[in-house]
Amino acid sequence: MSAAFDLSGRRALVTGSSRGIGRAIAAGLAEAGAALVLHGRDPDRLEATRADFAARFGEERITAAAFDVIDAEAVAAGIHRIEADAPPIDVLINNAGVQHREPLLDIALADWDRVIATNLTSAFLVGREVARGMVARGRGKIVNIASVQTDLARPTIGAYTASKGGIRNLTRAMTAEWAGDGVQVNAIAPGYIHTEMTQALVDDETFNGWILGRTPAGRWGTTDDIVGPAVFFSSSASDFVTGQVLFIDGGMTAVV
Ligand code: NDP
Repeated sequence: MSAAFDLSGRRALVTGSSRGIGRAIAAGLAEAGAALVLHGRDPDRLEATRADFAARFGEERITAAAFDVIDAEAVAAGIHRIEADAPPIDVLINNAGVQHREPLLDIALADWDRVIATNLTSAFLVGREVARGMVARGRGKIVNIASVQTDLARPTIGAYTASKGGIRNLTRAMTAEWAGDGVQVNAIAPGYIHTEMTQALVDDETFNGWILGRTPAGRWGTTDDIVGPAVFFSSSASDFVTGQVLFIDGGMTAVV
């Protein structure tokens, strides 16, 4: 491994890392040498993930923090607890997210608000809280998890699509304000990745056929497909890269 990708001595927080894409990214960062703060809502699932990571990477490198990313006070208290009497966060992956399928003509405002809060406002809340220290220290990496829905729309996922489009411009806004302070902010936009979030789609023969036909690579993405780019954006290999969105989608957004 090139020294530019070495994360030894860095501490990373990955939101929503109790499962799915966040968990795979967290494992990749730990393999590259980072100390980790795992995160989720469900305390039992989070503890199971923490115990597994501690066995693989060593107790001293792994901690866990449970808080709801849509609760501003819980976010502030959570980040404060993580950084109290411990090294500050050098790398933040804003990954926690939800999906909700309902046409725009039917979706209740409460469901719209929950999707926007979980997928977009949370990246602002956690990002701002962590960036205070990064800006003061003159160093930091933030990676916001977007989606192909950043660029593409499909019926029934309007709130999700709006939230991920917002992630693109939040990434740019953070770059505009923090690039001069040594903080790089980029986004990763995954295509369709097989996780709990998409299990029902994998099981749906019609949708599955559509995905395979619509993805030039001809397959679903795996959580491991996201790891290398996440390590790149978290490491000094990307020190002059900021404000960018990298699509990891088997070519889906490149062709019609
Ligand atoms: P999963 O549903 O498998 O995992 C979601 C994670 O986010 C869990 O750890 C969950 O914790 C956490 N989470 C959700 N809501 C909250 C909340 N309010 N507060 C704290 N934690 C929360 O999702 P994926 O791994 O599939 O997706 C991860 C990210 O990648 C999301 O932002 C998603 O939009 C994005 N993405 C996914 C794609 C896919 O095809 N899977 C494609 C493109 C983007 P808990 O278990 O405790 O609820």
